[in-house]
Amino acid sequence: MGLWKCGIEGCDGRFEDVESAVIHQTTEHERHECKVCGTIVPEGYFAIRHTFEEHSRAEFVRAYDADSSAVREREDVKAAVEEEADLERVVSDLKERGAL
Ligand SMILES: [Zn+2]
Ligand SMILES: [Zn+2]
Repeated sequence: MGLWKCGIEGCDGRFEDVESAVIHQTTEHERHECKVCGTIVPEGYFAIRHTFEEHSRAEFVRAYDADSSAVREREDVKAAVEEEADLERVVSDLKERGAL
């Protein structure tokens, strides 16, 4: 079992399970304003999910001045979290805390 990194710039938080990492990203970090549509979303996994489920890769690249390796990196994070995490538990936990 590997350790999950928060991965948000300037944060070296590490967690034993992915659910804790996502909860940390959502509750301990400033929210992120989507540069494509202006929606305020939690930083970390939920920001990535918003970007790639609501917008196209091309929109992301344009709005963030990103390149294809930045796209790949985020898609990999999203896939890894979704493979490993019990997201229903994460979402209901966060709703209970009023963080979503
Ligand atoms: Zn963090
Ligand atoms: Zn957006």
